[in-house]
Amino acid sequence: MIELKNVTKKYGKAIAVEDISFTINDGEIVGLLGPNGAGKSTTMNIITGFIEQTSGDVIVDGYDMLKRPKKAKKEIGYMPEGVPLYTDLTVREFVTYMAEIKNVNRKERKQKVKEIIEQTGLKDVESKLIKNLSRGYKQRVSMAGALVGEPKILILDEPTVGLDPKQITEIRNLIKELGKTHTIILSSHILSEVSQICNKVIIINKGKIVAIDTPENLENKVTNNNCIYVTIEDSQNKIETIKDKIQDIKKIKLITKNDDGTTQYMIEANGEVDLRKTIFAEFAKEDITIFEMKKADSSLEDAFMKLIEGGNK
Ligand code: ADP
Ligand code: MG
Repeated sequence: MIELKNVTKKYGKAIAVEDISFTINDGEIVGLLGPNGAGKSTTMNIITGFIEQTSGDVIVDGYDMLKRPKKAKKEIGYMPEGVPLYTDLTVREFVTYMAEIKNVNRKERKQKVKEIIEQTGLKDVESKLIKNLSRGYKQRVSMAGALVGEPKILILDEPTVGLDPKQITEIRNLIKELGKTHTIILSSHILSEVSQICNKVIIINKGKIVAIDTPENLENKVTNNNCIYVTIEDSQNKIETIKDKIQDIKKIKLITKNDDGTTQYMIEANGEVDLRKTIFAEFAKEDITIFEMKKADSSLEDAFMKLIEGGNK
């Protein structure tokens, strides 16, 4: 478990993160989501003990990062932003070097290195120099480095930045796989990524947390429950009278008349009611055939923008 309590980091007078508090439970895959400069890397660097907070506490598995850094750091594998260092080493040399730094038992070292190379899909390139690898493979090497020492927690800073779509899919799958056996915190400025991989999202903007929730809940929070789109066949033009029959309807607006004789309308409800059930039942009574019915589109993207705009007020 990771706990941040009122963590603030200042650089001189500038505040990079301000009064951040959250808890991450074992087994969670958490996305730290926010635009550039939001404070994602700063927060991650503080959790890993790489930089020290100005105030507040970071507790990793019960160990205070400042008071018991060795114990706390042992639980954490960290993949910093950008490409790996030591690009003049081969993949195997690099992972072995990381195992030396992290004091992996000498006798077990070779075996552990082998396992990590297999786990991260680097077997085919293990003898290549890191500098000659594609960006996607370099990211894997970086991930392999984080896995050395069998940490329970993985902290991955922008793991898919700079990758092409195929590489992104591969890295995401690798993260999901690792998520079965690790607690993971990853940062991203891409919403769809976080909603695909993570079961909890922490949205951060200008150094402050604006929301912590599941991707589903974040979407629901901002979804327009009161707007429904229906495509209907209504030969007797009953739609004209339906508004008076359903109290909760505020407005019916014609959207398009389709070539097949169907018509699409937008139906707006009074307040936060979800009209779909009522519409379904009442339209049937009136002999109006429903071809399609859906809630107004809303996405995590909208949620994100609304939350961030809210935070800017
Ligand atoms: P993110 O990773 O979300 O893009 P960062 O955590 O890197 O954001 O940065 C948060 C803020 O802190 C930014 O305004 C950045 O300019 C500032 N910052 C980060 N590192 C330093 C530093 N070493 N010195 C001064 N300001 C910094
Ligand atoms: Mg960053």
